[in-house]
Amino acid sequence: MTTGGPRIEIPSFNPYRFAFPDATRVVQREILHLMKALRSQGFTVVVTPEDGSPLHFIAEKGLRDLLSHPAFVLVAGIPASIIAGVIANVISARLESAAQVPGRAAPSIGSELFIDIDEDGRHLRLDARGNPVSDAVVSRLIASMDSRAEAMRRAHATRSPYPEMPCPIFLEHGPEIAAWGSVAVRDGAFRVERAVVVSPTASAMIESGDLKGFSIAGIVPSAGCSICGGTYVDCEHIGGQTYQGATCVVTPQIRLCEISLVRQPVQPLATVEVISEP
Ligand SMILES: [Zn+2]
Repeated sequence: MTTGGPRIEIPSFNPYRFAFPDATRVVQREILHLMKALRSQGFTVVVTPEDGSPLHFIAEKGLRDLLSHPAFVLVAGIPASIIAGVIANVISARLESAAQVPGRAAPSIGSELFIDIDEDGRHLRLDARGNPVSDAVVSRLIASMDSRAEAMRRAHATRSPYPEMPCPIFLEHGPEIAAWGSVAVRDGAFRVERAVVVSPTASAMIESGDLKGFSIAGIVPSAGCSICGGTYVDCEHIGGQTYQGATCVVTPQIRLCEISLVRQPVQPLATVEVISEP
């Protein structure tokens, strides 16, 4: 959906391409929300490659950080002073609304969002707070995204040493396998029924109370919006926000990609029998 204003490109990043290689256009949910906000301000926002395939988004539950993977925004023909301010305002508004969820710690966005501004062929790179970022940092980050996706693929290809607990459970959506578990779907929700912790790091974090529960990550190929009845990736509404008294409810089809132990849980760890292994 285009509005004809200045153009902003967001390159797709699919960290789960090992499982869903057909999803060639993927953004994180918060990046989708950023796109909606930028469109509402008159910008044309596209996700590349523009291959005509459906736009997918990554949905994660139970994360304190709004972005769990680095993301890039490519801008041309808009002065740095304007676009950096616009993006900083959008992000702070998102952080404020996300911080209002009761019982949740205030989220952070870290320094994972980068803005690449093409000013007549000169590239200026800023982080989400408007601070300059060097080419070396950006190159390192792109390499780390690829190596992380590859490490994730290798980890997923690893066979569990526990036949009754075949599902890898990762540490905070990274490539490290924290535990092996058995997962069941009950009442429409994924549940980790048993797990054995195999990572000393995860074990220490559980003992110290740092890891409190699970986060589930999935790719969403299609989602509906309760406000307009349209396609969520194309409309201007944001899940959880209220529009003339009605709360926007997103109805996604989720393809489960992975389960992680995280600091900020959706389900308390108490629901899991942890058989710890030193
Ligand atoms: Zn809508």
